[in-house]
Amino acid sequence: MNILIVEDEPRLAEALAHILQENDYHAEIVDNGNDGLTYALSDLYDLVLLDIMLPGKDGLEIVRTMRRQGNATPVLMLTARTETSDKVKGLDAGADDYMTKPFEAEELLARVRALLRRQGEVIFDEITCGDLKLNLSTHELVCGPKKVHLSHKEFEVARLLMSSPNQVFSKETLLNKVWGIDAEANENSVEAYISFLRKKLNFLNSTVDINTIRMLGYRIALPEA
Ligand code: CA
Repeated sequence: MNILIVEDEPRLAEALAHILQENDYHAEIVDNGNDGLTYALSDLYDLVLLDIMLPGKDGLEIVRTMRRQGNATPVLMLTARTETSDKVKGLDAGADDYMTKPFEAEELLARVRALLRRQGEVIFDEITCGDLKLNLSTHELVCGPKKVHLSHKEFEVARLLMSSPNQVFSKETLLNKVWGIDAEANENSVEAYISFLRKKLNFLNSTVDINTIRMLGYRIALPEA
């Protein structure tokens, strides 16, 4: 996880970087608002810790510009001031959370973890594979204007295959991962669910196929580019 620290007070910036590095995050420091904006817009970072009072562009302007340009990187505002108006301004400008200086390492780490987790949920809310999108919360499989709902087992099989296109999954692997090692299902169950999924892909008119690899198993085949 890459974290950008935009903070002009060198001792605080170093302290932040130190806490983050001790906890296995990669941290980079910039000490002014103009570089801060350029770095924040680079898409290289999973999170930005952003001071409000900075030389050059201030923190509010940076987060506002990020959001206006469609950059959704989570931003944790650092503010020396405790007035509610500054917090509200930061959140209104598009920051995800704020922290008032001085703060404890534990508080910083808790907020960082929460923001990184939130971002992960957004990213992994669906799996895209060829012309298919699998929604991980609704279990809907979507292709262009058409969509179908997958049953629980169909969903688990589809999720495995679609998360590693072209990788061959043996019936045994699918059985263990989807039904569990002790379940009373057998390889016929796997075949049955593969066939249900193929019918649904067919209904969706998807160009994605599930191939049977003789003696080995199944894989998602994407159409040749
Ligand atoms: Ca400052």
